[in-house]
Amino acid sequence: MRRILLIEDSAGIYPIVAAALGKNYSVANVETLADAWTQVNENSFDLILLDVGLPDGDGFKFFARLRSTSATEAVPVIFLTAKAELADRILGFSLGAEDYIAKPFEPLELRARVDARLRSAHESAERAGSFRKENLRFDVLSQKVFISENSVEHQVDLTPAEFKLLHFFARHEDQVFSRDQLLSSVWHNEIHVHDRTVDVHVSNLRKKLESAAFTIKAVYGSGYRFEKKTCVSRAA
Ligand code: CA
Repeated sequence: MRRILLIEDSAGIYPIVAAALGKNYSVANVETLADAWTQVNENSFDLILLDVGLPDGDGFKFFARLRSTSATEAVPVIFLTAKAELADRILGFSLGAEDYIAKPFEPLELRARVDARLRSAHESAERAGSFRKENLRFDVLSQKVFISENSVEHQVDLTPAEFKLLHFFARHEDQVFSRDQLLSSVWHNEIHVHDRTVDVHVSNLRKKLESAAFTIKAVYGSGYRFEKKTCVSRAA
């Protein structure tokens, strides 16, 4: 499920966008920049559709704020606005917007552009050796993982084996792996590791992922699964 944030105060746009994108997308709609800022700090989105004229400010300025915040700097943004004049388009692009759609728009065109942006964002992240899972960011080249909280990103202190295990899980979200499968996929059946090794690493990772949106859950009798926390609790 792709998550889209629609920042748009005009009534009637949300149903068109939701219908155009279809069931593989979940679209959240906010009507002010203040609400949008809360949303981007509390949730993660795959793409943002951003109107320019909003009740409490200017979409271009909000875009600059997104780009200067580590948690949102890489999220693709498409401006969606009635201000289709050339000068506005040029301003949007000079700020680094991924695309610009003038209202009124064809639903099919919106869908095609959103798909294209998500595809290219995914490809460039892969090329850069970096990908995100909600508030977790994996930098594969440097073998580092970061968690963002309230727009601030901090590095998770991981051993090389913990990184390998977490990276493997993150590439296979929601799949259950037995200890044997993990020993073979992550440790390549090295002779000095055994079932208990997996349990110890998983237990350490869970503690280190306390403020992450994901955790590694034990599946009784089967093994472990990397999954989204149903309720993020920051209490100890
Ligand atoms: Ca507007």
